[in-house]
Amino acid sequence: MKVLVINSGSSSIKYQVFQMPESSVLAKGLIERIGEEKSNVKYSASDETIEIETKIANHEDGMSLIFKLLTDSKNGILKDVNEIGSVGHRIVHGGEAFTGSVIIDDNVVAKIEEYSDLSPLHNPANLTGINACKKSLQDTPMVGCFDTGFHQTMPEHAYLYALPYEYYKKYKVRRYGFHGTSHKYVYNEACKILGKPNANIITCHLGNGGSIAAIKDGKCIDTSMGLTPLEGLIMGTRSGDMDPAIVTYLMDKMNVTTKELNDIMNKKSGLLGISAISNDMRTLIEEKDKGNKKAELAIKMFCYRVRKYIGSYMIALEKTDAILFTGGIGENNPFVRKWITENLEFYGIEVDDKKNNTRGESIFSKDSAKIKLMVVSTDEELSIAIDTYNICK
Ligand code: ADP
Repeated sequence: MKVLVINSGSSSIKYQVFQMPESSVLAKGLIERIGEEKSNVKYSASDETIEIETKIANHEDGMSLIFKLLTDSKNGILKDVNEIGSVGHRIVHGGEAFTGSVIIDDNVVAKIEEYSDLSPLHNPANLTGINACKKSLQDTPMVGCFDTGFHQTMPEHAYLYALPYEYYKKYKVRRYGFHGTSHKYVYNEACKILGKPNANIITCHLGNGGSIAAIKDGKCIDTSMGLTPLEGLIMGTRSGDMDPAIVTYLMDKMNVTTKELNDIMNKKSGLLGISAISNDMRTLIEEKDKGNKKAELAIKMFCYRVRKYIGSYMIALEKTDAILFTGGIGENNPFVRKWITENLEFYGIEVDDKKNNTRGESIFSKDSAKIKLMVVSTDEELSIAIDTYNICK
């Protein structure tokens, strides 16, 4: 079955076509700057990449162009769009309604709409992708895969905030967690590598956004992101955890609106805010190597926050089989992995420097270590394709 995976953002559409169950990628690409004067279109199939600059007014036009590229007589991979057997959509917020991926029907659409106030930038954009796809593919089944779904197994004592309980009921204020498709995918891959189904694993997704999950017997029992993706780790431009009183204090001191402060915490903080150089870990490592102290401090803070979460999740899990690193930083940055995991021999964590410095997927703990340290590449699109295929086959 050919599965089309769509990740629709407010001004972009990322897409991939998989042949399932083989999991091979037939074509992929993205459209950026939808609605602007000039949009960028990228399409790759069989080692051929096409890049176009053209005006794309809205998501519907974007989807039409994607189908045109997929069925192009020269570079296309389909004769007819009806060869697509199913479509998997990435949906950011599924609230408490969705514990896993589901076929999209009118009730599901209504729920995604309902949770738009918890994810105002993402859910409406995801819905635009669903509607644009429906126009061209009428009866093809579509599946919604939720970033929040995998974390719905968290127990009440982990997902509630210690605010008046009624706010949970009235305003849906609770920890939801994000990056669920990634945590689930790398966890399943790690269990296969370890030869241990239902292992207890701490999965560290460290990309431009970052989150950690504690997974016990296959179920997420805690995760670092909360009501929104702002909580938890220090990220490229996001502050992560901080004293909530800072918000009201700064609003008084700086005379800024909620939106302005929200922008500061989401877009001007984190690695960028501390270093005042970049949100990109590669740049910061280069700057640190040149002696830049702010860059070094930002990296140190980033690693220290991850260490604290690993420590607390080891206690939450009671017994940890493995600590896993994924995402752009987790997969590619041995230096950061070393800073996060060094000097923890007392806790059964022992880094093997040689293995840590090899590229690609690996186990980089010493053979003698009680807890395995692993690198597993994430693939959120494939994770969505697998769920979509399993539901639609
Ligand atoms: P996103 O959350 O946008 O998907 P990614 O998972 O692509 O982000 O991660 C982006 C981060 O990964 C950046 O900080 C970047 O510096 C880092 N990164 C990517 N490739 C490498 C690499 N080869 N070496 C070190 N860091 C890398």
